[in-house]
Amino acid sequence: MFEKVLVANRGEIAVRIIRACKELNIRTVAVYSEVDANSMHVQLADEAICIGKSPANESYLRIDRIISAAEIADVDAIHPGYGFLSENAHFADVCESCNIRFIGPSSRAMNALEDKALSRALAKKAGVRTPPGSEGVVDNEQAALTVAKRIGYPVMIKAVAGGGGRGMRAAHNDVSLVKGYHTARNEAEKAFGNSGVYIEKLIENPHHIEFQILGDNRGRIIHLGERDCSVQRRNQKVVEETPSPLFSESKFKKLREKMGKDAIRIAEAANYTNAGTVEFIVDNDANYYFLEVNKRIQVEHPITEEVTGIDLVRAQLMIAMGEPLKISQGDVQFKGHAIECRINAEDPFDEFRPSPGRIEMYYQPGGRGVRVDTHAYAGYTIPPTYDSMIGKLITYGKDRREAMDKMSRALGEYLITGVKTTISFQQAILQDPNFRRGVYSTNFVEQLLSGARRELIEEKS
Ligand code: ADP
Ligand code: ADP
Ligand code: MG
Repeated sequence: MFEKVLVANRGEIAVRIIRACKELNIRTVAVYSEVDANSMHVQLADEAICIGKSPANESYLRIDRIISAAEIADVDAIHPGYGFLSENAHFADVCESCNIRFIGPSSRAMNALEDKALSRALAKKAGVRTPPGSEGVVDNEQAALTVAKRIGYPVMIKAVAGGGGRGMRAAHNDVSLVKGYHTARNEAEKAFGNSGVYIEKLIENPHHIEFQILGDNRGRIIHLGERDCSVQRRNQKVVEETPSPLFSESKFKKLREKMGKDAIRIAEAANYTNAGTVEFIVDNDANYYFLEVNKRIQVEHPITEEVTGIDLVRAQLMIAMGEPLKISQGDVQFKGHAIECRINAEDPFDEFRPSPGRIEMYYQPGGRGVRVDTHAYAGYTIPPTYDSMIGKLITYGKDRREAMDKMSRALGEYLITGVKTTISFQQAILQDPNFRRGVYSTNFVEQLLSGARRELIEEKS
């Protein structure tokens, strides 16, 4: 049993992890950067240690400082959250060699899925389709042109180390491919310290559907169903829901079972343990393609918790402590419908420009079927340094209709002043007739923001 866990993260996910630890009677240690001294995770943890200045590469990304903090506080394990060091195999390795349990997959599994090109190769070997594309990293522009000729335009140039919706660009012809190839490599080097890019077919207006995986240390792997994350802006998720409305259409009905099995197959091929997510895109002819594995707890994990009744962070802790999974695939029951809206401190009327600053008034919605995961409070100052997500609003209902009605009601109740937020934008999504019908793909937000609809949103503000 763990007695003490260090949380190597900040924001809402650090709060989420501390909550799970407290419920298991595990003591918690927060680490924080100078600008986060008043942050909620620091206040909620049993102990807190400052690890440096506000830029992430001087604090939350400093393996040496986090390990020192872990040793000073004498913890049994480290939970990395998402982003920052969560998918860093080297960090997992360092933890293990210091006799500190890393709460996540083994460094071996992480290495097998280290980058997107390696993951593609692993999926192929496991017999799961990936978008047509290059065999691995594309080393020169001639090779890029050859791949594009074989698979046909449009194509995506993707950084092997990309993430968070960054590091990919579309190309529609030879000219834009050659130009995009060099730009993509330069950008990838700057953003991820790895210039490697590969090419895959651009699937037009796909659906993003992912499966939540749990694996224990004895080789049992189960999935906890899908999440539809097709409501995206610039390849970043905005609203997520489960079950996917797509699967209620007859053409797509058979996919749930097939994709769930394929997700497990990929996890098995990587000897995956702990929580993870296998991401796919689905085209309008019901073909599906593997995208990547997120080797960590995911932002949108709460919707899966709501419909399965399984606490995923608690499960992560139990698995890391060596506990076997107590349920098999057949025991996983799905009930009702859950939706999550990501609430960002951004101005939806000004190109979603980040809006850091002091929160003046703060009132969050509640009532039956409403959950808010956040670190925000009245008087809290959102620093400009990190990403702009300040909370997640999750609603649960007996069916999709009820979950949507609760979401509209809850968004209407959510009161945050002092900074701009995306609440009105989320409300516009919830009011959209196509969203309400459950008919949307990854181009939905772009369509919503363009033309007449955009004016509608502006009038409302
Ligand atoms: P999810 O897949 O759960 O929606 P995101 O892809 O939005 O999660 O990423 C979660 C967090 O991790 C975000 O803060 C995002 O910016 C960060 N992140 C993910 N991958 C990377 C990466 N390769 N480099 C930098 N940040 C990343
Ligand atoms: P990230 O690591 O940034 O999450 P992903 O590979 O998971 O990158 O892709 C994020 C999103 O980008 C997908 O959900 C999808 O909307 C879009 N995308 C990625 N690859 C393709 C593709 N080949 N065709 C069409 N859309 C894609
Ligand atoms: Mg992804």
